[in-house]
Amino acid sequence: PEDIRVYEFAEACGKSPAEVITVLFSLGMMVTKNDFLKQDELEILGEEFGIEVTVRDALEDVNYVGDYHDGDEDIDDSSFVTRPPVVTIMGHVDHGKTSLLDKIRSSKIASGEAGGITQHISSYTVEKNGQKITFVDTPGHAAFSAMRSRGTAITDIVIIVVAADDGVKPQTEEVIAHAKASGCPIIIAMNKIDKETANIDMVKAQMAEKGMTPVDWGGNTEFIGVSAKSGEGIEDLLENILIQAELLELKADPTAKAKAAVIESSLEKGRGPVATIIVQNGTLRIGDNIVCDTTFGRVKAITDDNGNAVKELGLSETGTVLGLNDVPTTGTVMVVMDSDKEARDIATTRAEHARAKELSKSTKVSLEEMSGLI
Ligand code: GDP
Ligand code: MG
Repeated sequence: PEDIRVYEFAEACGKSPAEVITVLFSLGMMVTKNDFLKQDELEILGEEFGIEVTVRDALEDVNYVGDYHDGDEDIDDSSFVTRPPVVTIMGHVDHGKTSLLDKIRSSKIASGEAGGITQHISSYTVEKNGQKITFVDTPGHAAFSAMRSRGTAITDIVIIVVAADDGVKPQTEEVIAHAKASGCPIIIAMNKIDKETANIDMVKAQMAEKGMTPVDWGGNTEFIGVSAKSGEGIEDLLENILIQAELLELKADPTAKAKAAVIESSLEKGRGPVATIIVQNGTLRIGDNIVCDTTFGRVKAITDDNGNAVKELGLSETGTVLGLNDVPTTGTVMVVMDSDKEARDIATTRAEHARAKELSKSTKVSLEEMSGLI
């Protein structure tokens, strides 16, 4: 909403900047030609000029991934298929998120491959009963909420890990709040049930107090006892995820130009900017022209979640992408464009816009500071 400037607005509705400034001035609002208009100012202007003002990022459509539902009439769904669910694991530190993910992964990888895996990977896709599931490890839930606030909803299902010997902790409570706000189905994995001190009823009672009542207590949250150590309960957990996924009827179009969420990024020596992504729609291929917030480029190389070089990534699959001109921000969306010019133009426009906004912010602050001094 605060992304349109006075002169841009004037241009868009066929007025002069002076007319816009005058209207606002008469109501005691001081703006200059280059200022960004606030939501309330836009509403006033809309009324004053008798036009309907709907504001959105001019480039929003580029990033829009969208929720598709069966039966949506205005969408040609002939090429839509069921896509794998993306599952985010959250929970208090040391309750076993990483261990659980590692166990799921190793139990789902052919033994020949498993030996080769040494380094921890924060997202990967596994298969259960011929159906794929993509998991994401959230080191903290900071990344998760950052993505949500950017409107990048990558997660379909949230798993909250609670150590059954430790119970609900402050971070568990925070995670519950985040998970609820996401609107995603939530599954509770009570981990470390191999421990003698594990107390499942304690966990259920504490969680019920936080509004997460177990199904077997008459509520509607699934609680599954698991052990990342022994592997107990993991099949049960995976089955539950697939049941939830089926209810969600997740669909996407593998023939579309790809859109993918950036879940991690870094600058690697000898490789340049590296983006770890999850494909949300379409298929991402080597050679694709991509734009990602203010960065752009052409896909040079793709590796899958096993670190193998691949030519493409399909729906809900995760891997790393090389070829961007700079390190993209986590939580942004990577989008395939028709041409490299288009990708470059969008990235450049965004960068300029972001700079202008920063600049106008800092001018405003210093003006306010100054008036405070007078
Ligand atoms: P995270 O911080 O949530 O990612 O937790 P980690 O996966 O790093 O695990 C924290 C500690 O708990 C490690 O020492 C793990 O070995 C241990 N741990 C994790 N899961 C289990 C489990 O199911 N049983 C037992 N006994 N220990 C576990
Ligand atoms: Mg961890």
